[in-house]
Amino acid sequence: MSVVGFGPEEIDTSRPHPARMYDYYLGGQDNYEVDRTAAERVIALLPDIRPAARENRAFLHRATRAVVRRGVRQVLDIGTGIPTAPNTHQVAREVDDGVRVAYVDNDPIVSTYAGAKLTNEGNAAFALADLREPASVLAHPMVRELIDFDQPVALLLVAILHFVDDDEHPGELVRELTSALAPGSCLVLSHATLDFHDAERLRAVRGVYDNATASLTLRTRSVVESYFEGFELLEPGLVQPPFWNPDSPVPDSAELRGLGFYAGVGVKP
Ligand code: SAH
Repeated sequence: MSVVGFGPEEIDTSRPHPARMYDYYLGGQDNYEVDRTAAERVIALLPDIRPAARENRAFLHRATRAVVRRGVRQVLDIGTGIPTAPNTHQVAREVDDGVRVAYVDNDPIVSTYAGAKLTNEGNAAFALADLREPASVLAHPMVRELIDFDQPVALLLVAILHFVDDDEHPGELVRELTSALAPGSCLVLSHATLDFHDAERLRAVRGVYDNATASLTLRTRSVVESYFEGFELLEPGLVQPPFWNPDSPVPDSAELRGLGFYAGVGVKP
């Protein structure tokens, strides 16, 4: 690895990090033995986790293009993940090169990679902050510098809320963030669900994440839908990621039917 300013002693390789496990599902190189071992246990239990991760990422791309096409010029991407080209700002700028992107993640390792890969292109920057403290996300100087909350914002909460436990009240966190957004703002959200698999297998998957730096909480369709309170869902509503405004034909495969994710985009009236 050739990341500047990052001593090996600072890298926590004792526990799997969800960001690095996700990087492994996507076929990335920014992960360690401890992450690969945990990720392989999940893959053995849920072989469609890799296509699910790829389809989730593709949803992030399509949804970002869609909201920029609607005229939104600023993006707050919370739960950035380890940079994976194309990143949100690159996708947004395919549509409009003036889009500003504020990236937020609470994993220091994401922060390090982000420093090298996400902040050097102007109008995109990274803040190390925690979704579970929405006030400090909104008040972060980097966020304040890039995002004008009087103008519409696309808030991305893509594949992050399932790392927030029920007793940390994810719905309230979303409301606190979205109440700061101007009319015309968009909520781009995806979430792992228990609706497509048997409970026993999912318990085993959750068990793997119990040893990681964030645990996994799978939720039902109605709970995920409730996060869009105060927003109007764009067509086709809350669906599995491949079915959200696909830009190529969606294969009718068993693999896609089993993808345990919901994805949707809402607009604040
Ligand atoms: N949004 C990206 C990456 C998803 S991986 C995508 O969908 O492709 C989930 C990311 O959320 C990880 O990078 C993890 O570090 C981050 N994350 C988990 N809990 C968080 C929290 N409480 N605050 C901020 N980031 C968090």
